Amino acid sequence: MSAVWGQRRSLSPPQPLPARAEVVIVGGGITGVAVLGALRSRDVDAILLERDEVAAGASGRNAGFLLAGVAENYARAVARYGRSTAAEVWRFTLENHALVAALATGLDAGHHVRGSLTVALDAAESASLEEAATLLREDGLPGVITAADQPPGAMAALHNPADGEIDPVRLVGGLAAALAGRVHENRRVVAVDDGAEGAVVHLDRSSIEAAAVVLATNAWTAELLASVPITAVRAQMLATAPVPPCIPRPVYAEWGHRYWRQRDDGIVLVGGFRHRALGDEVGFDVTPTPVVQAHLDEQLATLAGGARVTHRWAGTMGFSPDGLALVGLVDGARHVHVCAGYTGHGMGFAVNAAAVLVRQILDSNPVPAWLDAQRFGSGLNLTTTTP
Ligand SMILES: Cc1cc2nc3c(=O)[nH]c(=O)nc-3n(C[C@H](O)[C@H](O)[C@H](O)COP(=O)(O)OP(=O)(O)OC[C@H]3O[C@@H](n4cnc5c(N)ncnc54)[C@H](O)[C@@H]3O)c2cc1C
Repeated sequence: MSAVWGQRRSLSPPQPLPARAEVVIVGGGITGVAVLGALRSRDVDAILLERDEVAAGASGRNAGFLLAGVAENYARAVARYGRSTAAEVWRFTLENHALVAALATGLDAGHHVRGSLTVALDAAESASLEEAATLLREDGLPGVITAADQPPGAMAALHNPADGEIDPVRLVGGLAAALAGRVHENRRVVAVDDGAEGAVVHLDRSSIEAAAVVLATNAWTAELLASVPITAVRAQMLATAPVPPCIPRPVYAEWGHRYWRQRDDGIVLVGGFRHRALGDEVGFDVTPTPVVQAHLDEQLATLAGGARVTHRWAGTMGFSPDGLALVGLVDGARHVHVCAGYTGHGMGFAVNAAAVLVRQILDSNPVPAWLDAQRFGSGLNLTTTTP
């Protein structure tokens, strides 16, 4: 894997592909393994199909931040989504973090809670962070303005004490290993049919019938279901050889456009700067580019000058039209569900989103309106559809 996370644990061989399963999950990132784990904990006959290997997508290429909320700070999120929805979103991600922490127990997945800093680099962002701190306090959510540990160039910083970090590959690989036999790697789904009695998942040379299908395919969802409004956006990172401690806690700066953290082993991770090449940073090509990597180098020089860069990589994120994920039965479908579109923050949402989806499938529980996959009402447009 090109990212710094190394190889994930090998999985024991899967059982032969069945002709039928209660639920078929497509995609083996954090979402897919979380959905499979939640279904198996309730004894559902479910399997997962991954076209490559587990964590080959964004889940094996991210920075491992476990942040409360979305890319925007709380003040901006309140302006965009309304106060009660923004508060719900923040609580949802705090719950997600608790679920991730529970799953990570015993996985040696580098989980820590050191908090994070949201850092302002200009006066407008400073004022916005002040407003965010006030709104967070009024809504009983964690986050205070702090002068401690501010990085070079900071004009203000918001300390988010509940935020955490994780090694995403050890997390996702560990969860997949615990679901041995049910995870099928190198199995590409080419189409999904939504029939009256159930769905059919087509692979190259076989097909599987299912009572329900879950698309945990994030950026690639529209390849199978063109009506789902998720677009592919690139993000880039670098990692260094170990250096002495220089970054006390993860930092998310310049309205979330750049971010960095230092792992326990001294490795520094720097990511972001997509906004300096917005037109280029789209699509599925995961080749790092000189323009964005030069910005990452420049940022690194201010944090750990002289550190040797050992890894440079890119990954593909799934962006939704409103920045929030799409969870639940697809609009117009009877048996096809989606859980995707985290807009660059899936580690902060996916496990809770999976839990919500599983409660919809098994218990007919409603999905919160702000997450509901049907909120864009785009209608069913499967690649192939059986009437
Ligand atoms: C550089 C970078 C840094 C990031 N940093 C963070 C961060 O610090 N914190 C955070 O919260 N989020 C971060 N993200 C976003 C986060 O990684 C994603 O939101 C999250 O991993 C999405 O998980 P997923 O399981 O939904 O999708 P993915 O991990 O992308 O998994 C989708 C899977 O579906 C498989 N698939 C696709 N099509 C098919 C098919 N037809 N048949 C079978 N399998 C298929 C793919 O191979 C892939 O494995 C970052 C992303 C990037 C790229």
